[in-house]
Amino acid sequence: MNVEVETEDVIPLPSFTMSSLVAWSKGGAGFRRFGKVESDLTVDFSAPNRAALATRVLELCTVDPERLLPPHHFIELSVGKRIECLLLLAAGGRDKALSLVFTCQGCGEDLELELTLDEISEIQREADKSETIGVDLEGRRIEFRKPKGRDQELWAGAVFHDEQDAAVGMIGSLAVTPECSTAIGTASVSEIEKAFDDADPLVNFSCQVSCGECDRLNGYRVDLMETALDMLSRIQSRLIHAIHTMASQYHWSEAEVLGVPEWRRHRYLQLIEAMKK
Ligand SMILES: [Zn+2]
Repeated sequence: MNVEVETEDVIPLPSFTMSSLVAWSKGGAGFRRFGKVESDLTVDFSAPNRAALATRVLELCTVDPERLLPPHHFIELSVGKRIECLLLLAAGGRDKALSLVFTCQGCGEDLELELTLDEISEIQREADKSETIGVDLEGRRIEFRKPKGRDQELWAGAVFHDEQDAAVGMIGSLAVTPECSTAIGTASVSEIEKAFDDADPLVNFSCQVSCGECDRLNGYRVDLMETALDMLSRIQSRLIHAIHTMASQYHWSEAEVLGVPEWRRHRYLQLIEAMKK
């Protein structure tokens, strides 16, 4: 990553529990904000392999002045940790919050849930305390490792017969207890999946929101990885729109528009907007 970034503009990486990773946070490693430079226009948010897309964006925005991060660092993180990183990048800092909007299943009223990045990090901090997941199956304790970005990317390209086949295949590849494949049968899939959900709450995130109009307590599931990718995609759309507006007005090329510092781009856009009135 060779983009020049002001130190105060770097979003610090979330905390890591593994001792080998703690040094990164001290070396000024972090994320630059997405949607500022030309390379951010090269990200295709419609890419079918969502896990590979997530890895790409995380790597693209990483700043690591002291080169403390190991290569391919994000692909080796747990899926939950990757979601925390993506949300941090998409929201633009630890002091930010996500606003999740739902529809009440009772009266149709719009419901909003605010989730701060601090709350998200707290959930992940708890999850980070355990690196394996144990499930008792047929009187035997089976241990699983948590899925990483690498697993996610691999599964995205794999071909499975059906959902059940996919679940058994994915769970089987995470088992660390030897010779346990017979225990991972159809009946145990939902039990194992529940243990995975409990161990990594950000992955299949669920929340409850009560409605002020009809008092109904609604339960929702939110795909936080897609939420983050959608937020980042909208940031890219705003950049494209800014380029379009300035290119149309001043007949500048894409590169020329991007060569103008952000604060001045903002001023030009204000001036163009004022001319329309
Ligand atoms: Zn309601």
